[in-house]
Amino acid sequence: MSPQQRPSPASEITDGGRAAPAQPPWLVQPMTIHIAQDQRYSCLLCGRCCRRFHVLLQEPEIQRLAALPWDEADQAPRDFHVKLNGYNFFRRRDDGACVFLDAAGVCSMHRRFGFDIKALTCRGYPFNFASTFPGEVSVLARMDCPAVLQNHGQLIREQRHDIEKLARELHFGKGFTPEQLQGLERRSVEMLRDHCQGIVRDDTLSSDGMALLLMAFAERMEKLGATFINDADTMRSVMPSVMANLKQELADVPQIGLGAYDRAYFRQWFTIYCRRDEEATDRGLRQRLRRALMIARIIAGGGNLRTFGKEHPDLLLRRASIFNPTRWQPSVPAAWDAYRRFLSARLDCLQFFGVSYYGAAFFTGLKALFLTYPLVLCAARIRAASQKRTQIQADDVMYGVAAIDHVHGRSPLLQYKAGRHLEHFFSTERFPQLLCSLGKR
Ligand code: SF4
Repeated sequence: MSPQQRPSPASEITDGGRAAPAQPPWLVQPMTIHIAQDQRYSCLLCGRCCRRFHVLLQEPEIQRLAALPWDEADQAPRDFHVKLNGYNFFRRRDDGACVFLDAAGVCSMHRRFGFDIKALTCRGYPFNFASTFPGEVSVLARMDCPAVLQNHGQLIREQRHDIEKLARELHFGKGFTPEQLQGLERRSVEMLRDHCQGIVRDDTLSSDGMALLLMAFAERMEKLGATFINDADTMRSVMPSVMANLKQELADVPQIGLGAYDRAYFRQWFTIYCRRDEEATDRGLRQRLRRALMIARIIAGGGNLRTFGKEHPDLLLRRASIFNPTRWQPSVPAAWDAYRRFLSARLDCLQFFGVSYYGAAFFTGLKALFLTYPLVLCAARIRAASQKRTQIQADDVMYGVAAIDHVHGRSPLLQYKAGRHLEHFFSTERFPQLLCSLGKR
């Protein structure tokens, strides 16, 4: 993450990742930072983050950046920030790019003054910081960055020095609340996390089999309750039979798909994950009406995702036949590698509940994480169909993972009651039905 490595990243740090007010060194709290074990990242200099995201600015940063000693020849933009919904952001050009991105696709501020001069959100991307247990913070890399998605470059745990430097500039919350932990002790949280990791890493399971088993495991554990789970000796002895029973029950689940109403409800949910309202440079009434009309068309089974963002394939959705399993050939297991990495990083860093997921409790966040599977599957099918293929490949899954990770726990649209209801609706017995409708294999 040296200036040489990262001339052009920008974007956002989420979480309690608010910029910390300057504090004297003796007031800075010591904290333990857990960094995702297996993720890699070295900037590819693609400039994608500088073209897509609104970059949040703190008031003192605006003053600092406004005072930079540019030369006349630099032709630096003077009017570089804009207020949206009460927050300050870097101004963007009509094509969506940050005003500091130069013709060569490089951040002109970085080129002229170096990496450390840039806004905190630019320096922080693609890292996502989240407070977990009291005094602890976890850090993973967002998979909407192409370098992270491709697992390209240096292990991020080897970038600890840079990550710690960033963390010192942030202010974190107090960590998981008792309500969020649902009575689970720390070792129970970690035991459940490790079991889920075991399922994610089990390459004898198909992607469908993995998703079904993860969801069934989360539901069974939630039903067992914290008192039972916190009894470590009992859990150790019963876990093998619990897992064997779950596998048998899944093998016996009747093959019943969703009805037409439930499929429309799923499309509504999928649409929320694909919307990129925050990236729309045209916020006029006409554009908003156009997007509202497109949402209605997608829920009805038609429409085109491209209306919601340039990253989406330009394809009439009915051509993707997402609910027509006979059209789709089984994908090879390796195609799902990026999705397994996505789950693994979120589990490793416990970034699926609490501050990482709208303040949700452990089991709600865990099930919401596993519910990303049908969303990624649909996105991957749409991309494959846009290239006239009937088999999902690794690139299709990567597109799906980037699209869903961009939003999961981050979209304001999903934090309200309606979002909670959609999750609950599909995380019960409808989850196997949903996968059956999509063509479980
Ligand atoms: S999107 Fe990722 S790889 Fe591309 S410039 Fe930004 S940080 Fe670098």
